[in-house]
Amino acid sequence: MPCDIEAKPRLLWLQGVTCNGNTHSFLNLPHLDELINKFEIISHPILESTISFEEITKCKAECDILIFEGAYDPLLKRNDVLMSELLHHYALGAQHIIALGSCASFGGIFKASAPERNSGLMFNETKEQGPLVSSKAKLINLSGCPAHPEWLGYTLEMILHERAIKKDELQRPRELYSNLAHHGCTRNEYFEWKVDAKDFGLKEGCLFYGQGCRGPMTHSSCNKILWNEVSSKTRVGTPCFGCTEPDFPRTNLFSTKTNMSIPQDVPLGVEKRNYLTMAGIAKSFHIERLEGKLIDDEKTD
Ligand code: SF4
Repeated sequence: MPCDIEAKPRLLWLQGVTCNGNTHSFLNLPHLDELINKFEIISHPILESTISFEEITKCKAECDILIFEGAYDPLLKRNDVLMSELLHHYALGAQHIIALGSCASFGGIFKASAPERNSGLMFNETKEQGPLVSSKAKLINLSGCPAHPEWLGYTLEMILHERAIKKDELQRPRELYSNLAHHGCTRNEYFEWKVDAKDFGLKEGCLFYGQGCRGPMTHSSCNKILWNEVSSKTRVGTPCFGCTEPDFPRTNLFSTKTNMSIPQDVPLGVEKRNYLTMAGIAKSFHIERLEGKLIDDEKTD
């Protein structure tokens, strides 16, 4: 049954080691006002809150939904209070915990900078390790650097309407992370016929062969649920960095790793030998329509 409007679910947003990227991403949600009016925001780093952060640090509040942004660092303090104490206190009472972004989910960028200390809330990359491993049942990972604002919007609406969220083995909602970033990319025909993008930012070509695109091995719905309702990285000619996966960040994000000109990683679930056979055949075709400019600037009416 939907929650009573008089008793809005109480939402608390805490931050670990973070760049604020997920906070800023969420502020770009097109229907932000409508969504946040359905909750009591008891504390948020930017949005109007009903309880001061000082009260939060004294553990004087209660929340129904805890959102944690950033990597977990056991030594991090806010207002002279260890964040780990706050996290454990509020996680205990919350019915739902959302690890927002790749740092909170798997450690992300900040784990890479301090691997001896930082991790996600229940994963260190794919290894179950972190302060909330025992809260697995109520924890939802929304990985991404940053997480798409619509992914958080979807999750909050599902919670609000008491709908079950089916999760994958990394605790991510299947509805959002079963697709690959490759699905829905407008460059799929170039991928099929192995036509490379000649540079970044062009309308033509696929970014898999030279620019390091991870779309065919990255679980995300970036080309299904578009950013700002209109676009995605690959649509503007930038490779997918695979930022929703536990091994993010990798090195050399803008180039494709190869061994003797053969891509080191091939699309998920495809045997490398089969991929190479298929790619060789596809490459032997020359399709003029795909090799030229989509829009010929020289052509006059
Ligand atoms: S640019 Fe990336 S996501 Fe798009 S078709 Fe090529 S490999 Fe797939």
